[in-house]
Formats: sequence, C-alpha cells, structure tokens
Amino acid sequence: MPELPEVETVVRTLRPRLLGTSIRAVWTSGKGLRLARPIDRAALARLSVAARITAVRRKGKYILIDLNRAQAGILVHLGMTGRLRVQAAAEPRAPHTHVVWSLTGGRELRFVDARRFGWVAASRDVDASPEVAGLGPDALAELDVDRLRVLLAASRAPLKAFLLDQKRIAGLGNIYVCEALFRARLHPRTPARRAAGRATQLLRGIRAVLRIALANRGTTMRDFVDAEGRSGDNAAALLVYGREGKLCRICGEPVRRSPDAGRSTFYCPRCQSR
Ligand SMILES: [Zn+2]
Repeated sequence: MPELPEVETVVRTLRPRLLGTSIRAVWTSGKGLRLARPIDRAALARLSVAARITAVRRKGKYILIDLNRAQAGILVHLGMTGRLRVQAAAEPRAPHTHVVWSLTGGRELRFVDARRFGWVAASRDVDASPEVAGLGPDALAELDVDRLRVLLAASRAPLKAFLLDQKRIAGLGNIYVCEALFRARLHPRTPARRAAGRATQLLRGIRAVLRIALANRGTTMRDFVDAEGRSGDNAAALLVYGREGKLCRICGEPVRRSPDAGRSTFYCPRCQSR
C-alpha cells in the first residue's frame, strides 16, 4: 500500500506533466471505489472541466491537484493498488481504468485501480474537504518534536496503532511505522504516552526512514509504480519490514513478525525491548 514516500514520488513525477495543462473532459467507469462508494461524477466534471491545473501537492497519503478556481481541486488516494499515469490519449487504456481526465495537448491523466480501495473526488475547497481536513500533521512536512510529544502524551494507544492513525499523524503506513520504531528502538506495543519522553528519538526515526525511502523513489513490494510507471528501489533499504527470521542488521538477533489486526509487525526483540 503506497505510503508517504510513494505518494510523494507520484506527486513529483506527476507535477511536471500536469502543471499548466487544462482539463477538457472527465470520464469515469461508473464502478464504486473505496467502500464501494461511487465517484461523484457530476461534481468532478463541474469543478474540473475547463479548469487549469495550478499545483500538484500532497497531504499525508492524499494527492491534491489544485485548479484555477478559488480553492477547488481534485483529491486522489491510491488505496492499495491505485496508479496515476499521464499518457497519450491514443495509448490503449489499461484494465481497471476508473477515471480519465482528458488534457490539452492530446494527453490523459488516468486513474487505474485493480482492487478499488482508492478514492477520487473533487472539492470546492480541497483543504477543507472531510478527507483532508481530518488529517493530523503531515509526517514529513508538518510534524515537529513539540507537536509529536503532545500527541504521544495524549494517547493510550500502542505506538504502532498511534503512528498508523492518520487523524494523529498523516502519511505513515505499516512499512514505515515498523522501520521508524526500529530506528527509534521503541517496541511497537509500548503505550504512546509512555514514549512521550522519547519524542525526539521517534521523530528522528520517522524522518530518517522517510528521507531514505524518498531518495529511493519509494518501496515496491508488489504493485507500486510512480507516474512514469517505474517501481521504487527502497525495498533493499528496509531494516526490519519483510525480514522475519533474518538477522537484525544492528545486533544479529532474528527479526520477529507478529500478526496484528491483519497487518504484520516486524521488529527486533533485542533492539526494541519493552
Ligand atoms: Zn536488533
């Protein structure tokens, strides 16, 4: 599932292709996306047709495409298997294409999503939309140590669940939470408020894993590609995620995996003792 570094990589590869172009038409497959909710095609067409794209940015795991109509914009969540590509209109559409924006210059922005856990919507005020307004500070762009300390102190949740909760901190998912906790030497089940005194260490871990992953253009476990169709190279840089039974790169102890609400937690029992 794409997390902050993957979404940022998509944004960086989309931006030069989209800035300044105008949208001529919108097509949707009519299939429901996240939670089988149908896309509001009328709103999408009303807000985006004949509008010019003025910015492509990110908040948490959302891609925000600003239009030259006051605060209006398009928001896209890639879910598990969502992809955004800019392609020539003449190129055949991939299977599972669910939204197509026809652009000036004979190109199309296409949203393809095999599993349909992604989401696409248009909003008159994209930052105030319910999807975006409810997010906590962005893990890379907005989180600082004081804010993290306050958030930690206010939560009884285990650290892993705390960091995954997009309402508290936006952008992290299973891979980078496991990696950040390993770097910070914190056990995933430690209650958040008990880690408030180690906010500096945790923030350092979060920033390190995100920066490395960004430099590697994201992690491709299975599906992820950027807007050019390229996979990310970060899988080789992961220290614990997906390394069950392999030796910890710091202490040599075998990395453990504990199944946890459908998402595996990977950690080193020695480096991250409770
Ligand atoms: Zn270790």
